[in-house]
Amino acid sequence: MRFQPAKVILLFALAFPGSVDAATHVTFQKRTVYAFPQEQVYIGNKFPGARISACRRLDEGKYEIRILPENRPINFSPWYAFEIWSDQPRDVRVTLSYSDGFHRYKPKVSTDGKHWKRLDPTQITMGPFRSLADLRLRIGRERLRVAGQEMIGNQQFHAWLGALSKKPFVARENVGKSLGGRPIDALTVGNPTGTNAVVIISRQHPPESTGTLGLFAFVDALVGESDLARKFRERFTTLIVPCLNPDGVHEGHWRHNLNGVDLNRDWKHFVQPETRMIRDRILKMLRKTRSRVFLFIDFHSTHRDVFYTGTEDEKTFPPRFIPQWLSSLQKRFPDYHVNIVANKTTLAVSKAWALEALGCPAVTYEFGDHTDRKLISRIADGAAQEAMQLLLDAPALINDENSGE
Ligand SMILES: [Zn+2]
Repeated sequence: MRFQPAKVILLFALAFPGSVDAATHVTFQKRTVYAFPQEQVYIGNKFPGARISACRRLDEGKYEIRILPENRPINFSPWYAFEIWSDQPRDVRVTLSYSDGFHRYKPKVSTDGKHWKRLDPTQITMGPFRSLADLRLRIGRERLRVAGQEMIGNQQFHAWLGALSKKPFVARENVGKSLGGRPIDALTVGNPTGTNAVVIISRQHPPESTGTLGLFAFVDALVGESDLARKFRERFTTLIVPCLNPDGVHEGHWRHNLNGVDLNRDWKHFVQPETRMIRDRILKMLRKTRSRVFLFIDFHSTHRDVFYTGTEDEKTFPPRFIPQWLSSLQKRFPDYHVNIVANKTTLAVSKAWALEALGCPAVTYEFGDHTDRKLISRIADGAAQEAMQLLLDAPALINDENSGE
C-alpha cells in the first residue's frame, strides 16, 4: 500500500495540534536494493515488514547493515528484516550493526516468506556488548529473507481473518483505518447479541510475533469444536483485534505508529487514531447490547513469558478472576512456570484502561522472544480452555437477560 508520509503528518497535525513534534521524528527507511557488483550480491528491503536503515560493503563478501529505530526515545526492540541473494552461489558475512543498543532478536531465515527457521547459532558471532552480530550466510539466486522473528504481517493477518470469518459463528468487520490508511479489522466470535463480552487485542508493537502466535492459539481454542468452546460461544461474544498497528508492522518499526508514538502508552488521552478507534468500538458494543466485558487480554512479546496483571485488591467484575484463572493454568501445566507480575501501573497501557473504564479483569499477556513456538501454542490454548471454563463456571455472575438465547 502506498501512502505519502508528509500528507499524513500534515493531516494529523491539523487534526491534533500538539502532537506535531512526535510526528516529525519518524525516519522512513529508503526502500531499495543495495547492489554490490564486485561480487554480484544484492541486499534489499523492498517488501512489507522489511527494515534496514543503511547497507554498505566492508570487504570482499562482507557487508554491514545498520539497524536504526524509527525515532527516539524508544523502547529497545531492534527489528530488522531484509533479503539477500547473489548471481552465483557463495558464502557471505553480514554484520548487523546497532548504535542504539544490542542484538536482541535471533535471526530467522526463509526462502518463501512463509516457512521460517532459526539461523544455526554456529553461523552467528556476537561483537562487543552484542552491539554487532556477524551472520555467515550461504546465498544464491534464490532470495533469502533474514528477519528478527518469523514475519507475521498484514498479509498474514488478512488471510487469518479471512479464514476464520468463514465459520458461521464468526463475523469480520472493519473497525477503521490506521494513520497510513491501512484497515484495522476485527472478528466477533459467538453470540453477536449477547451481553457477556471478552476483548482480545494484539500487535500494538510491530516486532512482537510471539504475542501473535499466542493470540492465534488462544483464538483457535475459542473457535474450536469442543463442548466447552460451543457453550462459551453461546454465552459470550469475543471481540478480537489482532493487529492495532498495521503501519508499524508494514514499516518494520521497532515499536511505534507513524506518528512515532507507542500506542500502548496512549490509553489515557487517546491521541492516536488507532487506540481511539478500538476504545470507541469497545464502548459502542457495550452501549448497543448493554453488555459488559468479563475479560480483556492484550497479547505482546518480551524477553520471557509473563502475565502482567493488576493487584489482587483491585475491584473487578468478575471478582478475583485473574488469580483463579492463572492458578488453574498452573495446575494444568505443572512443568511450566506461570510467571505473574502484578502491579498497579501508572502507565497509559491498555490493561490499565480496561481495569479503570470497564472494571474488568485485564492482563497484558507476553510471550518470550525465544519461547519454543510449540510451547506458546500449547500454553495459550490451555489459557483459553481455563478462561472459558472459569467464565462458564460462574453463571450467577452472568447477566443473560438480553442474550437472545
Ligand atoms: Zn509489546
